[in-house]
Amino acid sequence: MTISKAIDNARVGLSKSLMTTPCERKGFYSETVRDAEGRRLSFPLPERVTFGTAVDEAITYILWHDRQGDLWTAEEAVALGLAAAQRQQGWDLVEDKEVFGIQLRNAVNLYLTSTDGLERIQRLYAEGLTLQGNDGVSLRAGDVIGTPDYKTSRRVGDLKTWGRNDGERKFWKSPEMGLYAFLYTAENGALPETVFYQAYIRVNKPYWLWLEIPATADLVEYGKQTADHWRSLLELGRPELFPFDTTYCGDCPFRDPMPEVGHDGCAVGRVMPREEIAA
Ligand code: SF4
Repeated sequence: MTISKAIDNARVGLSKSLMTTPCERKGFYSETVRDAEGRRLSFPLPERVTFGTAVDEAITYILWHDRQGDLWTAEEAVALGLAAAQRQQGWDLVEDKEVFGIQLRNAVNLYLTSTDGLERIQRLYAEGLTLQGNDGVSLRAGDVIGTPDYKTSRRVGDLKTWGRNDGERKFWKSPEMGLYAFLYTAENGALPETVFYQAYIRVNKPYWLWLEIPATADLVEYGKQTADHWRSLLELGRPELFPFDTTYCGDCPFRDPMPEVGHDGCAVGRVMPREEIAA
């Protein structure tokens, strides 16, 4: 058995995913526009997201078995990663599926040979490493919810696939790790000692990277402030109050009206020239 990484579309609450949406207005729509059964709508995501899903699935399978001393194989990891990608709506957007498979195999092979890959995580087994929150159970603090890929008695971390290495700025560019540190602190009554990213840098010569910094009260406060911001705005429920970023209008599924679910379209995205946002 491995852990399901699927997110429940009916889930409510201030999820980490919601609060790290680059266009906040899109985040508002993704949270509030729901189908007749109360589920969030799902859409095809870009190839880089599908690739990240495949890598996540493959690595989670390896770690789940390796941690327990069970047998596992790289072939099975790649097969599971590929199957997870094929289940995504975004699979149709993957132009060269053969190259996708080769790149996934490469990511797994590098994970097994890099000092920042499997070897690095194995050192955390002694700290009681759990995967996907508490082995599949998300962390919660009141209405805030999130599922870090890694958690131990001393640290919290996440597995990533990035197109470049932004270094330690990454911990502050997005509130993601602040939110995880906030959730960890709420659950444990104390700060984690460190927060970390284990990232596959998908460039011409790809590699695995380990970034780790001390967890501070400032980082936790960053997470808390982010949650307070989103809670207040969502309570008002007015899309025009949510900041927007037109960088993401080109493939935003909420740009146009969807009368079948009572969505009027995004007032900003609708007025963007089509040729501009498609570029
Ligand atoms: S259409 Fe553009 S501004 Fe509107 S929610 Fe989508 S990304 Fe944001």
